[in-house]
Amino acid sequence: MRVIIACALVLLSVLAAIALTKTNVLTQPKSVASDAAATRTESIKPVAAKPPADPVMTVAAVTPVAMSDSAPASTPMAAAASAKPTTLAASTSTPAAAPAAPAAVAQAPAASAPPAPTQPVACANPNGLGLARTVQIDTTGGPGFGFEHFKTHDFLKPGEVVLTFDDGPWPNNTPAVLAALANHCIKATFFPIGKHATYYPEILRQVAAAGHTIGSHTWSHAVLSKMKNPEDAKTEIEKGFSAVHWALEGAPMAPFFRFPALQHPPEMVTYLGERNVAIFSTDMDSFDFKMRKPEQVIKSVMDKLKKHGKGIVLMHDFQHATAEAIATLLDQLKLNGYKIVHMTAKNPATTLPQYDEMLLKDQKLPTVSQRPTSDVVRTIDQ
Ligand SMILES: [Zn+2]
Repeated sequence: MRVIIACALVLLSVLAAIALTKTNVLTQPKSVASDAAATRTESIKPVAAKPPADPVMTVAAVTPVAMSDSAPASTPMAAAASAKPTTLAASTSTPAAAPAAPAAVAQAPAASAPPAPTQPVACANPNGLGLARTVQIDTTGGPGFGFEHFKTHDFLKPGEVVLTFDDGPWPNNTPAVLAALANHCIKATFFPIGKHATYYPEILRQVAAAGHTIGSHTWSHAVLSKMKNPEDAKTEIEKGFSAVHWALEGAPMAPFFRFPALQHPPEMVTYLGERNVAIFSTDMDSFDFKMRKPEQVIKSVMDKLKKHGKGIVLMHDFQHATAEAIATLLDQLKLNGYKIVHMTAKNPATTLPQYDEMLLKDQKLPTVSQRPTSDVVRTIDQ
């Protein structure tokens, strides 16, 4: 009998500890993200989305998180280390629309595992887009994608579109994007901000549960080309991955990275190559962060797709106008005959232990120990 009671007590305390930890995570006070956005023309504009009225999170230093991904179009990029497969484009001129033949998926060696399924996926929604195909990307050596900056790997066929969403996860807006994608039975790639992942890990886990690909977009959306110390830039990259990894609780994270403001310091391009992380610029920037009305977002994307014929589209699940636009935008893509391609990674991303530790330390996130304080600290003399 004593044994049974003892077992019951142990079980209860374990359950209580779990409940306590979960509560800590979910009720962590939130930081107030910045609404500043650096635009392609270097002007600063506020963005529409407002942070929720949650209390402030216990982040050591809450700095503003910018919300745009545009880069000055005129800066030629230096080439990455010659040993790396990634080469940066020397100019940012607009690519010619729809080359005749699609290239093979980047860097797939002949002896590798069979490619991902290429058959269209059936969709319960008769008006849904459905996935035209899924590609698997071997990120070895850090290949670059997106013709605004990287012109090596052209893997899309005419009419094919890859949807990418940056700066989330964010309440209301990210779930709205997820609902629209689900309605059309399609999958996209998300580049969350590390800090935002720690604010709303449960939303990021919804993204993962829906089968979308999740990469990273730095820790605090710092523009890395402006950082003088390479170690600081490296920390932004690595802590971003560590934060996403922490939020996902074991769900896969792709070694996919997008530089904030699409500014690619060559030293960090080389570093990502050494880390086997693929870099994603874009084929067309929606500039949705400048827009307040959903119609503007729809027009922007549809006009650019008409011009380019295909491509990787950059949008923001953080942006309210995009969240409002996305359902109609997907309907428009279907009506105009576009096909959706889902990018996946051949291998999952890895984090570096020192940055995982830095994240936990800085944010006072739950540690491995889940024992209640009364178990850990006892008064033995009073
Ligand atoms: Zn961004």
